[in-house]
Amino acid sequence: MKPIPYTKHSIDQSDIDAVISVLQSDFLTQGPKPAEFERELAACCGSKYAVVFSNGTAALHGAYFAAGLGAGDEFITAPLTFAATVNAGVYLGATPVLCDISMKDYTIDQERVWRHVTDRAKAIVPVAYAGYPIDLKALREKAAAEGITVILDAAHALGATVNGEPISKHADMTMLSFHPAKHVATGEGGAVLTDNKAYYDKLMMFRTHGITKEALPEEQGAWYYEMRELGFNYRLTDIQCALGISQLKKLDASLKRRKEIADRYKAGLSDLNWLTLPPEPSDGGHAWHLYPVLVTEKTGRRRFFDYLRANGISPQVHYIPVHYMPYYRESFKTGDFPNAEDFYEREVSLPMFPALTDDEQGYVIDVIKRYKP
Ligand SMILES: *Cc1c(COP(=O)(O)O)cnc(C)c1O
Repeated sequence: MKPIPYTKHSIDQSDIDAVISVLQSDFLTQGPKPAEFERELAACCGSKYAVVFSNGTAALHGAYFAAGLGAGDEFITAPLTFAATVNAGVYLGATPVLCDISMKDYTIDQERVWRHVTDRAKAIVPVAYAGYPIDLKALREKAAAEGITVILDAAHALGATVNGEPISKHADMTMLSFHPAKHVATGEGGAVLTDNKAYYDKLMMFRTHGITKEALPEEQGAWYYEMRELGFNYRLTDIQCALGISQLKKLDASLKRRKEIADRYKAGLSDLNWLTLPPEPSDGGHAWHLYPVLVTEKTGRRRFFDYLRANGISPQVHYIPVHYMPYYRESFKTGDFPNAEDFYEREVSLPMFPALTDDEQGYVIDVIKRYKP
């Protein structure tokens, strides 16, 4: 039997048909599908604009570029994230500043973050870890007053809502990923959501080499275009966008199933005093990309992780803090982010994906209950 993974994409016949129809059409890339996917994404997330990118990391790179990040600027994010959140700002020569997480929601500590803000700070980048619906309203108001852009890394949080509103509502830009581990799969893929036309224009230009056909001199011929910024080729193909459009139709059902799985873990595991289940706001809205549990220090994460693997379950650990990565070790000190470090020592991500069957989840719960901490 194959081990039960921590995540898995779901592809059905309608997804396959959507991809095949593009393969039989006139455009594999630069056709009509990206704009169609962008309209659907913007509508689904309640944003004015969506710009799709070849992956989530490229989308972050674009968002940081649109925010004007460059050498000498600082951006502040949490160490509990995938390295790309930090890397994409470093690509532009900006300096990453880390701020510890709050154990209340496992995302950046919104009070502590102001201690890290200097007059070089250009962006604050909260990460909606596991899909937790973080409320950014107060942070965004204060940031706007200081001239700082709020960019939300919502790679985990497509479909998350705060007080019934999309999580992207109180960020200047919101990044999404369509890696198959995430809610909507396009193979590789990403997007930035925004309500701001100026950011939108920059994102569009950045995605295609910095080239534009807007506001060109009138005397030029129809072939003419200008490259005005140093952009990249970060386009998403029509093949991938067709898959994304088809996948997005199933987002509501997939969020509902994720919530059922989270509720069942809660019912089955909340009695175990050696295990801490993930926080959840009372009014819901969680997107449940991950189901992160914490063992007690005494129990030991390694033994629990290996026990699950020995029993046909393939959990994962999210994340090794960014400042532990050899590339960043000289920039940060171990011990400076006690919450993220403690979290890393104790975290295991249990299987969480819509296609997880009731039998499989029941088995995972039984295996965990039999564990002798
Ligand atoms: C997946 C992910 C990214 C990067 O997205 P890609 O599409 O893989 O480039 C960035 N941040 C977080 C938190 C992620 O989980």
